[in-house]
Amino acid sequence: MKLAAFLALALTTAACVLASDSRYSGDQVIRFDVASPEDQAALQRALNNDALGLDLWSHSGNKIGKIDVRVPATSVPQISNIGVAYKVLVQDLQQVVDAEREHMGKNSEVLHNSLMSGEPVQLAAADIFTDWQSYETLSAYIGGLPGVTQLPSIGKTYQGRDTNVFKFGTGPYGIVYHGGIHAREWISPATAAYVTTQLVNNTELLSKFTFYVMPVVNPDGYAYTRAANGDRYHRKNMQPNPGSSCIGTDPNRNFDIAWSGPGASGSACSETYYGPSAFSTPESTNIANFVKNTPNVVGYVDLHSYSELFMFANGYTCSGQVSDYATLFKGAELAVDAIKATSGHSFKYGDICNTIYQASGGSVDYIYNKLGVKYSYTIELRPNSAFGNAGFNPPVSEIIPSGQETTAAFVAVWNYVYSQLSGTPVPTTTSNATTATAPVSKTTSAATKPSSSTTATAAACAHNVCATGGKLKASCSACARAICAKDSYCCNTSWDSTCVREVAQYCPDVTC
Ligand SMILES: [Zn+2]
Repeated sequence: MKLAAFLALALTTAACVLASDSRYSGDQVIRFDVASPEDQAALQRALNNDALGLDLWSHSGNKIGKIDVRVPATSVPQISNIGVAYKVLVQDLQQVVDAEREHMGKNSEVLHNSLMSGEPVQLAAADIFTDWQSYETLSAYIGGLPGVTQLPSIGKTYQGRDTNVFKFGTGPYGIVYHGGIHAREWISPATAAYVTTQLVNNTELLSKFTFYVMPVVNPDGYAYTRAANGDRYHRKNMQPNPGSSCIGTDPNRNFDIAWSGPGASGSACSETYYGPSAFSTPESTNIANFVKNTPNVVGYVDLHSYSELFMFANGYTCSGQVSDYATLFKGAELAVDAIKATSGHSFKYGDICNTIYQASGGSVDYIYNKLGVKYSYTIELRPNSAFGNAGFNPPVSEIIPSGQETTAAFVAVWNYVYSQLSGTPVPTTTSNATTATAPVSKTTSAATKPSSSTTATAAACAHNVCATGGKLKASCSACARAICAKDSYCCNTSWDSTCVREVAQYCPDVTC
């Protein structure tokens, strides 16, 4: 009897655990193929329809292209009514969540529990970057890296966690970077930790800059996405909303810049809820205060996922360009070129509003416009729309490649920034930039590389004549227009280095 009672209890307990952890049963991840402004409008209408409960996951340049959306099980039968071509990426999202949790239960949770219990644990990179680690594990790991000092907490979160910040380097200019402002974007804290692992060995950069890293700036939300009874796709912080069962404000819509403007929501249940007032979230306030109170900060990076984009201000308005547009654009271009050379991935780049969407109250806009930190960027990390699964759940094997390409981007952009600040030339090599990573090469493969004179002509033509401010001119050559037909991003969003390369490759006799 006792055994039977025990088994019954065990089964009941198991059923409860399953029930509390099965909120995504039957949910699907759908990839919409947005091919026209009509498609874009139809998808936007569906996203605005609260009854459908759609959850936008990824972005595409100018909103044309592949866009991933989580569709709740109850709305799955209505997908075809939206009227936009699509394919099902994930049939049952709960299976993805369960598989990820099972992996963590054997790896990162074991490490976390040992750390929390005070057991002596070895925090080696080989263990850290093979799973999605907790905030505490990432903090302990970064704090143990050579030359790294943990500073006093930059402030408490809503639930009372300390916001950890670590300092390294001796250079005159300060750079602040952080992961995890959005809870579900797990590759962001992991990438912040990996980049730090690489930068602490880059003696050249450390003599130019002092770095400040916050691995997770929304640790309450991050913990909630990791908890067995939590919500894997929670994005916001954990502040309750009076009169609503929906939890959280989006810290990245809560900065005091065009607060409550377009591209943010006043609905407590929205993923982009801007909160009851500017800086109502301790998380955004902590970041702003830290940057404000740290001397000589010249650069800032806010790491997000996913979509493979490298962006800068403004997000709150799509009209005009910031006064440093050309300089920021050049820095972004060097960064995405370094990513391309490292991993082959092609990140798009440009100002936030024209690259993904209008978004008010964001960190980069505030830190650039209000705090005057000129070199402020935000990165949407991998994967992109070529990835055939749930983009917030990449396999753990993506952590190191993401870290490698982001390190290459950091090295490229911060060397460029230093050259701008000091008046010295940008280094032509990236010598010790990527210790233990793939070598960074600035050359394209011999098979596709056109002659250098052709490249120079086409590049100059494409940049100086065919494009202005990253946009293609209507008077551009037929061949360049043909490139646009192949790659709508070139025409519609940003005439970038990828577009230039395509012209160089396919249009050797390009005339503008
Ligand atoms: Zn994000």
